Amino acid sequence: KTITIQTDHSVYPVVLGEDAIEKLDDIVNQLTPVVTSILLIADETVYKLHKNYIASGLPERIKRSTFLTPAGEKAKSFEVYQNAIGFALEEGLDRHSLVIACGGGATGDLAGFVAATFMRGIRLIQLPTTILAHDSAVGGKVAINHPLGKNMVGSFHQPAAVIYDMNFLHSLPIRESRSGFAEVIKHAIIADPKWLDEMMADLDSLESLDNELLENSLKKGIEIKAAIVEKDEKELGIRAYLNFGHTYGHAIETWAGYGKWSHGESIMAGMVYSLYLSKKLKNLEFDLLRFVRWINKLGYTAQPPAESQFDELLQLMLKDKKTVGKEVRFVLLEKIGKPVIQKIDTKELAAADKMIRSAKG
Ligand code: NAD
Ligand code: ZN
Repeated sequence: KTITIQTDHSVYPVVLGEDAIEKLDDIVNQLTPVVTSILLIADETVYKLHKNYIASGLPERIKRSTFLTPAGEKAKSFEVYQNAIGFALEEGLDRHSLVIACGGGATGDLAGFVAATFMRGIRLIQLPTTILAHDSAVGGKVAINHPLGKNMVGSFHQPAAVIYDMNFLHSLPIRESRSGFAEVIKHAIIADPKWLDEMMADLDSLESLDNELLENSLKKGIEIKAAIVEKDEKELGIRAYLNFGHTYGHAIETWAGYGKWSHGESIMAGMVYSLYLSKKLKNLEFDLLRFVRWINKLGYTAQPPAESQFDELLQLMLKDKKTVGKEVRFVLLEKIGKPVIQKIDTKELAAADKMIRSAKG
């Protein structure tokens, strides 16, 4: 399956499926100007597990260097970034070289930032290996972290292609699947009520995700994200809808300390919170109790960490990128599939927080 993504300045394919990596060779061959050398930037855990498989897909005739990043979020540091750039220089990469990123969102973000900045920008192909990466590999946002804030140094750099090979996903730990699948559910909620209904009816565990269901879910999720990004590449308007659940969710993720609550677990609680606010402030018609029972079955919790205080979460929400002045802006829903952005005052936020914490499930 191929999805074509079109932004203001570029068009690129997302190739999705079992063995999608077989398409890599052709895609690299068709790039113009001709690729002079390849820098593979891979997550070390992924590389250990899939070394031979990755190698089998890479073009043989082109000179290649491999740079391994520490697994996961540690890849997104200044130090790793500097090492990667240093390595690229030593290896003699030039302006017509290609970066291939292989790993989850963290490796993709780091490698993307390397590609965006090395000699003012070289080409990038993403080989995502997590469910979450259906979100991060598409859209062109790349970044590393600063000690004072996540994703605080970054750029927009669209890939030349995304090759999403389902075979990588078989080794993904359940916790990572759960984290990534929250974004799939988010895409359904903000854009496709029918799909959400279907998922709620058909899916009752993430432990043994059926290949076909997973592939279809990723495809739909990518199409929804792509449609939004195509209309708003630089996040001036509707792209903010993709942040549904993220304001309260990010606050939880940061409060807990990275990794303690995964991104997906955090934003799932954030989505429940936003759904509750949407019912209250936007008359959203939605059976929230049924939704909560469903996500509980999938292993998510609907509530923030019990030891967290609303005030602590509020302070973190006030730092959210969507916040202007002292009013927190939220993505709410008038209907499933129909998001709106709205400022919400602190009292309302506190009341919702209290309500969610007192509910069961
Ligand atoms: P990740 O890249 O941090 O990887 C999570 C863990 O899974 C790591 O330990 C990694 O080694 C392991 N892993 C990855 N693939 C595996 C596989 N196939 N088999 C076994 N283990 C595997 O996690 P992620 O959830 O994919 O990405 C999170 C990152 O994505 C965050 O840094 C976030 O900021 C970023 N992100 C970026 C965007 C964007 O638009 N650029 C959007 C959303 C998230
Ligand atoms: Zn997210």
